[in-house]
Amino acid sequence: MSLYPASFEKLTDHLRRLPGIGAKSAQRMAFWFLSLSDSEAEEFADAIVEAKHSLRRCSVCQNLTDEEVCGICSSMKRDRRKICVVSEPRDVIALERSREYDGVYHVLHGVISPLRHVGPDDLTVKELLARMDGSVEEVIMATNPDAEGEATAMYLSRLLKPLGVKVTRIAYGIPVGANLEFADDATLFRALEGRREI
Ligand SMILES: [Zn+2]
Repeated sequence: MSLYPASFEKLTDHLRRLPGIGAKSAQRMAFWFLSLSDSEAEEFADAIVEAKHSLRRCSVCQNLTDEEVCGICSSMKRDRRKICVVSEPRDVIALERSREYDGVYHVLHGVISPLRHVGPDDLTVKELLARMDGSVEEVIMATNPDAEGEATAMYLSRLLKPLGVKVTRIAYGIPVGANLEFADDATLFRALEGRREI
């Protein structure tokens, strides 16, 4: 028999599903939730539901947005001749933080991974190719510098180059196996500046 009431168990079960959260942390979080006032707890739950309902993929770059076309794609200040390809929406946030990139993005929503049965059709590859309308001059591959990120960059490069697009890869400064998301701004800036053609 469990030491805790069923509703508490249910809450900790849900919290344990969060990335990186084990049994102990889930329990700590559950107690924290219980310390909130009713209205605070409701606001928290509402924020999850609202984000889930209102967030969608930008029809151009596939990044998450509240609108049909995201703020970056609709901005007049962005250079549409450059597209930076990243695997996750959080990578866009990391690159935007560095404030050096003035092009637009394309979010793949994953990387090609035979081990995890993720193929090009599970990503937004078709949508990326559809953007090659002759106005794009450079596609910058900014997938993580690990095996799957490299393989994905090479795969896309083989599809894009015959279309007459310059394909580059960020490299300098980001250690192999590291995550773009955790790189500091200066490192990301150097990574973008030092990109080379592949
Ligand atoms: Zn967009």
